[in-house]
Amino acid sequence: MPEGHVIHHLAGKLNSFYAGKPLHASSPQGRFATEAARIDGFRMAQAEAYGKHLFIDFDAADPAHIIYIHLGLIGTLQFEPEATPRGQVRLRLSDGELAADLRGPQWCRLITEAEREAAVAKLGADPIRADADPAPIRTKVQRSGRSIGSLLMDQKLFAGVGNIYRAETLFRLGISPFREGKQLKKNEFDSIWADLVGLMAEGVEDARIDTVRPEHTPAAMGRDPRQDDHGGEVYTYRRTGQPCYICGTPIKEQVMEGRNLFWCPGCQAK
Ligand SMILES: [Zn+2]
Repeated sequence: MPEGHVIHHLAGKLNSFYAGKPLHASSPQGRFATEAARIDGFRMAQAEAYGKHLFIDFDAADPAHIIYIHLGLIGTLQFEPEATPRGQVRLRLSDGELAADLRGPQWCRLITEAEREAAVAKLGADPIRADADPAPIRTKVQRSGRSIGSLLMDQKLFAGVGNIYRAETLFRLGISPFREGKQLKKNEFDSIWADLVGLMAEGVEDARIDTVRPEHTPAAMGRDPRQDDHGGEVYTYRRTGQPCYICGTPIKEQVMEGRNLFWCPGCQAK
């Protein structure tokens, strides 16, 4: 599943390509045809990401003038020169030259401002957003008997954080994913938040996840670059059984919150 950095990256592309331009909206596959017709020809005002949720605003008088997308596990939004749509394109936005094609989203809806506010109100703090306030979620985390590995996946707390960032941030800070939220000290929560803010901002920029510090890059360690479709240079994610870059202990894996959790039992003992 794309993590929040991908959605922010896509919002940035939509803004740079289309903001202020009238767009042709269509649903080549048909499932979003009625909704697309309601905003077809109107100007795109702005695109905005909140966690893993994408909102695209149009200057239409229709109360429902916001496209609300969640890519889910397999959804994609791809930019290509306008041509005959390939495959199941739920939504196409185009300025006549460049088309943004949405395929396989978990959902794509046309919503009102009130509906957007309700959707955003359900989300926690997004480390990528400048307006994020981590104080309320720190209180919730520090009262929780759930593990921090589980809490980090909760979109009502950490909006946009997914499986890779949870594993990598906890590794970088040497925190066991099994520690309960209420066992975390204030400075530990603050360091988790600060690490997510820094890592995820880089992710938006590069549209990929790199988490290793300068001393652990392939060049610094004299090792081959990582070959994996799911991201860049990381410490634990999908490195099960391979030696930890810091202590040499084999990286472990187990399911937590429905997703595989990766950690180093040596570096993250407590
Ligand atoms: Zn280790």
